[in-house]
Amino acid sequence: MRSFDYQKPTTIEDALSVLSGEDAMVLAGGMTLLPSMKQRLISCETLVDLSAVPGLSGIAREGDRLAIGAMTRHADVAASDLVKETIPGLAALAAHIGDQQVRHRGTIGGSISNNDPAADYPAALVALGAEVETSTRIIPAEAFFTGMFETALEPGEIVTRVLFPVPDMAGYGKFASPASRYALAGVFVAKTGDVVRAAVTGAGPCVFRAPDIEEALNGSFTPEALERITLDGTEILSDMHADRDYRMNLVVVMARKAVETALKLAG
Ligand SMILES: Cc1cc2nc3c(=O)[nH]c(=O)nc-3n(C[C@H](O)[C@H](O)[C@H](O)COP(=O)(O)OP(=O)(O)OC[C@H]3O[C@@H](n4cnc5c(N)ncnc54)[C@H](O)[C@@H]3O)c2cc1C
Repeated sequence: MRSFDYQKPTTIEDALSVLSGEDAMVLAGGMTLLPSMKQRLISCETLVDLSAVPGLSGIAREGDRLAIGAMTRHADVAASDLVKETIPGLAALAAHIGDQQVRHRGTIGGSISNNDPAADYPAALVALGAEVETSTRIIPAEAFFTGMFETALEPGEIVTRVLFPVPDMAGYGKFASPASRYALAGVFVAKTGDVVRAAVTGAGPCVFRAPDIEEALNGSFTPEALERITLDGTEILSDMHADRDYRMNLVVVMARKAVETALKLAG
């Protein structure tokens, strides 16, 4: 690890001021950033720890939306009665991120800012039509995730909250890599009124919506509706963990699981 300066501001204004300087990076739970720095994959002059900035963590209902602060840990999302009441599929997703240690340090803001192609939250944000609130603007989730480990964030911009519209029902199906617990394929489905949205993670270079799955579920929101669908697999990856055909099949199987979960959670 290269040497660096460490700052722990107590206001968002101070955090933004330090970040406006040369080569400064945000530190959330450090789950990805610190190992990357130790391996010298990433280096910076200044680390700006957000943990003492008030107002960045917590979960609140705001009308028909659920607002989750960027520094909210996965374990807190998983345990929240409010999340379990409003979007139980999201609480269930958070409960299966990594292991206990990762869930108690990792944050929703860090997860989406990192935009690992196999991370779970991006699928939930895109399928639920969430918005990402930053220090300067509001970005729709579909415009936020721009590519592998890439987002629409500008240098010095901080994610402050994620705003989730509350759906009628939602669920997530994930086939986890046994080694890392990241998704080999994960599908989040959300139904609001007559509209179904489905987003896929782990199977492509970046989270993407699956129109074939959405179309089939718009006709009938049942696992059976997905029995005979064929995916347009243009976005599906082939790598050492799973080839393209295997992943395409896994996406459909996980979509069925997501629908089963959504129906079960809706009671
Ligand atoms: C062993 C292991 C297993 C894991 N398994 C899973 C899994 O199954 N599913 C899954 O989804 N994830 C998994 N993760 C990732 C984990 O859930 C974390 O969310 C992720 O590592 C980011 O960690 P963090 O929140 O501590 O952010 P950090 O590591 O502190 O930061 C990550 C990046 O985001 C930036 N950043 C952080 N917060 C903000 C902000 N508010 N605004 C702007 N930029 C910000 C940082 O500058 C950095 O570039 C795993 C991680 C590990 C180490």
